Formats: sequence, C-alpha cells, structure tokens
Amino acid sequence: MKNIVSICLIMSLALMGCAQDVATIEKATTGSMSKTEDEWRALLTPEQYQVLRQKGTEKPYTGKFDKHTAAGSYTCVGCGEVLFTSQDKYDAGCGWPSFSDAEEGKVATEKDVSLGIARTEILCSNCGGHLGHVFDDGPTETRQRYCVNSLSLDFTPEGEGDTNDGEEKK
Ligand SMILES: [Zn+2]
Repeated sequence: MKNIVSICLIMSLALMGCAQDVATIEKATTGSMSKTEDEWRALLTPEQYQVLRQKGTEKPYTGKFDKHTAAGSYTCVGCGEVLFTSQDKYDAGCGWPSFSDAEEGKVATEKDVSLGIARTEILCSNCGGHLGHVFDDGPTETRQRYCVNSLSLDFTPEGEGDTNDGEEKK
C-alpha cells in the first residue's frame, strides 16, 4: 500500500514537472509581441505580410538576400530581432537565403504538414513571424539548412549599431 501511495506521489510530481515544461515551451515559441492583423498590415508591405503572417513563400531566386554576401546581421523584418548572421550564411543553390545555424533561442520551430510533406517550419520566436523551413541536409557540421524568405529579413551591416532599427528602411 505504501508503495502505491509513493508511486502516485512520484507520478503526480512528474506530471507537474511536465506541465511546467509545456508552459515554458509555449511561452518560448508563441512570441511576446502581440499585434492585431490590422497592425501587422500597417507595419509590413503586402509581400512581407503574405510571407510573415500568412506563411507565404517568395519565388526562388527573387529575394534580395539570396546572393547577398556582405558581413552583418540578419534581423526579423517584423520585430528587429537578430535571427541569423552572415557567418552562418551559405549558398545552398536552392534560391533562398540559407543558413547553417540560427542565433540561439531566436528561431522557433513547428511541424508543418501542409502540401502533404512533413517539414519543419521556422518562426521568429519573438513575434511569431513565418521565416521559412529548416532541413537537416546542410553541408556543415550542424547539418542544418535554414531556408529563409528574404522578405522575412532585414540586414544590418557589420559595424553599424543595431539599436536604431527602423531608420534605414527606404
Ligand atoms: Zn520577429
């Protein structure tokens, strides 16, 4: 009898632990920025809105950062968070900017089974904006290929302050 009681106790403790973990994960992936769809529409261009908020995909080889090789940081066009750096960027030949790694904790992932294929969607963990997908066929030791829409990104050249965001948009 004592054993049953202690097993129950252990199980309920374990469940509590699980519940806590789920809450932490949800907080990390949902994003702390909440805006209405109207606010997003006002903030983004129609093309950016379609990708970030409606999970659209730009046509391959059309994005401004596909062949972009300058040194600096790639930020989320929705909220300005630094998501990727030029150090991790490489040309995967797929027509979209590709990165072997993301800045720690800045990119959230979600299962995506649209189009009948199982893929891993990547989102900005701060604002929840859709970025693209990540695949595990990358050429570097991380084995990761973050395939990102240029429309989801902005760029800050190395050496420029990243505190005054939003000024260079023209
Ligand atoms: Zn964002």
